Amino acid sequence: MSKLTASRMFAQSLGVEVTGPGECYYCSGPCLRTTVHGEPPPLLGSRRPPAVPAKCPSSPYMCPGCQRWKNKRSMTPYMGGGFETKPAREGSWWVAPAGSWRLRRESGPDLYKRLAAPPCEFALMLTDPGVENHIQLAVVNVNAVVKAETQLYLTLNNQIVEFSTYELYQTARGEVTGLEPGTQALVRFFGPFPKELVPKEEAPQQESRGRGRPSHRDKDPRIDAQKKVLRESGKETVT
Ligand SMILES: [Zn+2]
Repeated sequence: MSKLTASRMFAQSLGVEVTGPGECYYCSGPCLRTTVHGEPPPLLGSRRPPAVPAKCPSSPYMCPGCQRWKNKRSMTPYMGGGFETKPAREGSWWVAPAGSWRLRRESGPDLYKRLAAPPCEFALMLTDPGVENHIQLAVVNVNAVVKAETQLYLTLNNQIVEFSTYELYQTARGEVTGLEPGTQALVRFFGPFPKELVPKEEAPQQESRGRGRPSHRDKDPRIDAQKKVLRESGKETVT
């Protein structure tokens, strides 16, 4: 199975299957070697990086996902409703095989519904106005099972940062300081997580802080029971 890139998921969400023996100039994902990217060739002896980030700068080809990402004027939907005809790289995005959407402040409620139960594969790419969103720099979250405390990643202005659904639950009661940069970015872009979406059993309480890291509460209770039996039988003197 070929590697899963955000470009590939973007193409899949548009109904285009990405296959092929070649590597895409931008994302290094598979491509059929049929479409050239048209970027200027690297200057010999120059240390200047390409104007657009390229994971495979020696390839003359691009994949269908990156090709569609480059489209100057394509009609793309906003999460939560509405459309936009700007190039895809101008703005923030949610990309997943089941659907890709542009994001704006009004997308917050729909985005948070998705992040309350994230799919196994998705990429989240946030950019501030004036910053180009490079899909080839996106990080793909791939998890067999996503729990509230699962470490997740997004790109903020093309830099990878961390967040988790559990931390988002904490923002529902106004907490932001001490949280991962990705969680803080989500609050900055979309506001705090809605209280009504926090599951009752996950409602942040003082004693449940620190969940997601190893704690005594997570220990297998059978181990303690076993130790108690050993102590009582006099076979263990040191605990
Ligand atoms: Zn590509």
